[in-house]
Amino acid sequence: MIFLRNLLIFLVIVALFSLSNFNNQDRPTKDAVRSRNRSLAGEGRTSNYKTQITVKPYRFLKMLDSKKSQEMIDLVHNINLWILDDLSFPKKLDLFAVDQFANAYFDTEEMALTLPYQFRFEHHTKHPLFTKYAWAHEYGHALFFENIKDIAPRFAQRYLELTQKARTQNNDKEALQILYQEKSLTKVEYKAALKELELLNSSWRTEYEQIGELLAPFDEYAADVVAAIHFSNSETMNDSLFYSYDAKKSGGDAEMRSFERYKPSLAKKGMAYHTFFYKARTELWKYCLNRPRRVEILRRVSRGKLLSLIFNGMGQLIEQRYQQQKFSYTVEEHEKVNDLLWESIDANMLDQNSGEELCGN
Ligand SMILES: [Zn+2]
Repeated sequence: MIFLRNLLIFLVIVALFSLSNFNNQDRPTKDAVRSRNRSLAGEGRTSNYKTQITVKPYRFLKMLDSKKSQEMIDLVHNINLWILDDLSFPKKLDLFAVDQFANAYFDTEEMALTLPYQFRFEHHTKHPLFTKYAWAHEYGHALFFENIKDIAPRFAQRYLELTQKARTQNNDKEALQILYQEKSLTKVEYKAALKELELLNSSWRTEYEQIGELLAPFDEYAADVVAAIHFSNSETMNDSLFYSYDAKKSGGDAEMRSFERYKPSLAKKGMAYHTFFYKARTELWKYCLNRPRRVEILRRVSRGKLLSLIFNGMGQLIEQRYQQQKFSYTVEEHEKVNDLLWESIDANMLDQNSGEELCGN
């Protein structure tokens, strides 16, 4: 019986193998079509596009099953495929993958993504299709972080230095916690050591917060741009975050993530980091990323190049604000900073071969 069963399995394998060979000879596989499309768009190099991702459980929540967390990993790699010739990507990341959660974020100090398979806001669950947009957004933060040293070098020097200090402080805190759990420290000693650690690090904390404040609106803009380009969709974050129960309460926060539905009345309210560059999002879509314009641009440069030109424009304004020590944003300068960002991006949108403008008013 065992022999017969093994023979049967062998025959099935042989049959499947010949079938796949037959298919290969007969018509191009999807991969071949994809790779041909990529090389048409100047995105031919496909080696070393993988980020080493370690999936970990998130605090008290159950870890996501491996098939679903693989979808998250695949998305990261699919983005790497189109950016790898023009931008850097993280070589290593941790991934806290959970089933349902109201939040998603990228932690620069931990180099970790926390991603839910489905958003759950109070009692309302979103379809996983919409959560993928948020995965791309969060990975967009990781990409922006990875490239900040190239696009805004003077700002990045201090920013990365302080991020490293924060990372070390986190590790020290963790080490103390372990000593306390192992009972090598009493509760009094543990608390005293924590306090000392905080004092030791207090001198640079304010500066770290200021730098974070300067960067935050840019960071959110960059992450939304990555999601919008990856999915060729102006509504990624609006679709991902909108839920009818919250529409009034949030005052249009989700709507202000749209790249197309600009309402001046809403723009005035968007001082939060995520919505600060609402107007500059609309300009980018109107002149560069709308479908006909995008198709035209992608005939001349790859998607990765397009993103790197946008990142460069952003980096120049970050450097400017850092040089002027302008860490926070006032209501009065809100619209002006939006215009400056769009102007800076627009000035970078040139075809390097011909010197011609890629986007246009
Ligand atoms: Zn974000």
